Amino acid sequence: MPQNIRNIAIIAHVDHGKTTLVDAMLKQSGVFRENQVITERVMDSNDLEKERGITILSKNLSIHHGGLKINIVDTPGHADFGGEVERVLKMVDSVLLLVDAFDGPMPQTRFVLKKSLDLGIKPIVVINKIDRPGARPEKVVDMVFDLFCELNATEEQLDFPIVYASAKQGFAKRELDQESADLEPLFQMIAERVAPPEANPDAPLQMLVTSIAYNDYIGRIATGKIFNGRIKAGESVALVQRDGKVIRGRISKLLGYEGLKQVELADAIAGDIVTVAGFDDVGIGETFAAADKPEALPYVAIDEPTLS
Ligand code: GDP
Repeated sequence: MPQNIRNIAIIAHVDHGKTTLVDAMLKQSGVFRENQVITERVMDSNDLEKERGITILSKNLSIHHGGLKINIVDTPGHADFGGEVERVLKMVDSVLLLVDAFDGPMPQTRFVLKKSLDLGIKPIVVINKIDRPGARPEKVVDMVFDLFCELNATEEQLDFPIVYASAKQGFAKRELDQESADLEPLFQMIAERVAPPEANPDAPLQMLVTSIAYNDYIGRIATGKIFNGRIKAGESVALVQRDGKVIRGRISKLLGYEGLKQVELADAIAGDIVTVAGFDDVGIGETFAAADKPEALPYVAIDEPTLS
């Protein structure tokens, strides 16, 4: 059910604790969702990467918690990839803006935050490292508020929910004077404040490709969000390319995430973010569609990367 999915991205300046937070969330989550069909583990990505010396996977991951599947998609940190940031943000329904309780917001996260605000996303602000000596969480909240104002946030966006956290110690809370021993308040905030994806599982399949990677064993793999319908491993589908050309083929593998591990899935529904193998000509911005209804989703333009 799309109602049980939450798609988010985390915007964080390097060292503000994104890795630590995600690790803590993984540790405090269940590994399996009851109704999920996991046929086999494809391969250990780390081993494979070591063996081949290449990067084959995007850094997306999925966490199952409290009956929800939380997909966390990776955001390119650089302003150099304007179009890419936008495409990633179009898959999510909210972002966690993670800010160090001592350092405050940093200019490097401004670009991605601005894009998020411009797209109408209402961020959840996570003030991290509140255990740090000299932490000044209230001051940092004010700094975040000022930054939102500067970036022309709307009234609604300015009314951002706040979670105070120590990713390192594995706890989060909504009020500074509250006691908390775990990240439950953060999970609850995600459940409450991130809208489930707007997606219709009963419509014909439409999945928008957001990123492409290459895997020596299964070839070109395409990751993106299923906006409508369902997708099954082994099924014949159409690929609508950017020039409108329709290629037909078979989904040779359907992949999802179990934590950080890529796993094979039997099927997936609208709202979810998955990876597909079987199409060697697939490109970013293209649409996988039902074989009998090959219609493209609107294409998100890619800015030319400004290589400096
Ligand atoms: P990333 O670059 O955003 O992924 O940051 P990391 O998760 O690698 O964290 C950067 C550094 O901050 C590491 O030394 C962490 O141990 C430390 N760190 C992360 N979260 C916390 C926290 O909640 N409190 C404290 N005191 N340190 C933290």
